[in-house]
Amino acid sequence: MSAGKINVQTENIFPIIKKFLYSDHEIFLRELVANAVDASGKLKTLTSIGENKTELGDLFVEVIIDKEAKTLTIRDRGIGMTTDEVEKYINQIAFSGAEEFVNKYKDQTEGNLIGKFGLGFYSSFMVSDKVEIYSRSFKAGENEAIRWTCDGSPEYNMVADSKADRGTDIVLHINEDSAEFLEEARIKNLLDKYCRFLPVNVRFAGNDINNTSPAWVKKPSELTHEDYLAFYKELYPMSEDPLFYIHLNVDFPFSLTGILYFPRLKRSMEVQRNKIQLYCRQVFVTDSVEGIVPEFLTLLHGVIDSPDIPLNVSRSYLQSDGNVKKISNHILKKVSDKLEEIFKENRTDFEAKWDDIGVFIKYGMLSEEKFYDRAKNFCLLKNTDSKYYTFPEYAELIKPNQEDKENKLINIYTSNAEEQHAFVEAAKNKGYDVLQMDGSVDSHFVNFLEYKLENNSFVRVDSDTADNLIRKDEKRVSVLSDDEQAQLKSLAETVVNKEQYMINLEPMSENDAPAMITRPEFMRRMKEMSSTGGGYEFMANMAEQFNLVINTNHPLMKKVLSTETDEQKQAVLRQAVDLAMLAQGLLKGEALTGFIKRSVDMIK
Ligand code: ADP
Repeated sequence: MSAGKINVQTENIFPIIKKFLYSDHEIFLRELVANAVDASGKLKTLTSIGENKTELGDLFVEVIIDKEAKTLTIRDRGIGMTTDEVEKYINQIAFSGAEEFVNKYKDQTEGNLIGKFGLGFYSSFMVSDKVEIYSRSFKAGENEAIRWTCDGSPEYNMVADSKADRGTDIVLHINEDSAEFLEEARIKNLLDKYCRFLPVNVRFAGNDINNTSPAWVKKPSELTHEDYLAFYKELYPMSEDPLFYIHLNVDFPFSLTGILYFPRLKRSMEVQRNKIQLYCRQVFVTDSVEGIVPEFLTLLHGVIDSPDIPLNVSRSYLQSDGNVKKISNHILKKVSDKLEEIFKENRTDFEAKWDDIGVFIKYGMLSEEKFYDRAKNFCLLKNTDSKYYTFPEYAELIKPNQEDKENKLINIYTSNAEEQHAFVEAAKNKGYDVLQMDGSVDSHFVNFLEYKLENNSFVRVDSDTADNLIRKDEKRVSVLSDDEQAQLKSLAETVVNKEQYMINLEPMSENDAPAMITRPEFMRRMKEMSSTGGGYEFMANMAEQFNLVINTNHPLMKKVLSTETDEQKQAVLRQAVDLAMLAQGLLKGEALTGFIKRSVDMIK
């Protein structure tokens, strides 16, 4: 029998261990099961090199609740520990490890920590009044097992024990505050969370709870398409099939395995983030991987497993870590490679997936220069006929017809083909092509492309009349005299609110509408950006600005001018303006009711 005192430098770390990381007490189970799995793995290795003379047998780790005794036991059949090893690994190394960990983090707020590896065995004191270790080493002779006891003070007790089986039992006498860890459902839940893919069977309440060889630890050549889909379902039972996947498998200069899946995003990015799970040698660490993968890639799903990611450090440190940077770049490159591969090898398939991956690719291009450099080769533009073009292909398409007088390429787009239908039609009638930019990042993407693609500019289809979308050197003449135009203008000023509507007289074709409402591109964009920051917040409360364009060549305008009374003139013009507002979805409430009533009166 021997008793001893752990050599404490910090006055007493146990009270600190007990208090600290309060919400994370549950990780003790991960630490202890991971130790048990390690001990089993080590024995397997020793057996394979002929160093273990005991019978290997069925290696599994068992978690046992004894409600009456208020104990939770983690049992393994691994290498076990001799008295000397307990002295060395538990009393000295593990203790000083825990002490160092506590000293380092006692002042940190918990939010700064990712995964709490490092506290190890001593994390058991977060939930226990007393901890016992019963261990028998594979090297032990007869009667050489050991029992270690510690009640949460720096004093421990070591005595010989009669344990007959090889391996280690860690028995936790669960403290009053931690009674939840004596509940089967709670333990099951934790094992499912942390131990689901551990490489040694973990048994609880009569069942093995884990898949010991998840897809990501296998070689890609051993897996079929179905295996990848089945693993996705195992991770996210309720999800639709993913679009495609990437198997990560690197040994050097860092070690990284994993599988990333592309979920179906549709047009929005409203998908749940935090679906990538981070593992360290098959032990679950966290499902928040910001700082480890580029931000836009957190939209992906799947698993990353790497022992080279420092786990108990703050996120800001993480981002400056050399390995983490390399890992992040590697993942970015793999994702780009995969997208380019699909694009090159099966363009039809790539186009079919575009509605789901487009938003992701655009978001990536906006947020990562490195990704932009790759993605500009396969990013697609989709037009209103649902045809897809790369940037160079599209430039080629519109060059003949959509250059303005300064030889700038004018890209015309709609943010909503339904609502802007009249404008889309008018542009198409002029022989212009119209792009669909209706995704959740498209308003930013348009600005971005304008800045990236030289000599290109973008105009929304309703930002001007079809004639003026692309300024060419064409002289158009008005059939109205200057005097008539002036009359028309002052008349128009009585029909709309001057603060909100700029009145423009345009000599358009007589087949165009008599009046149109357009939304000037520049003002509209600034307003759009005001809702997402970027220095334009001051515009958020400003009323939107419109142009009222009067087509002076439309026969209706002659009619307006030749109508007798001012009142009648106004009535006709108002009707034309209301129709223009209707086409822009701007006619609402009282104005709409008035319009309907007037229209009915007219046809009566
Ligand atoms: P770590 O696992 O990070 O080394 P721990 O404090 O969890 O730190 O454990 C310290 C040491 O105690 C381990 O490295 C191992 O040598 C030994 N140990 C812990 N649990 C077991 C076990 N179940 N079987 C055999 N050895 C163990």
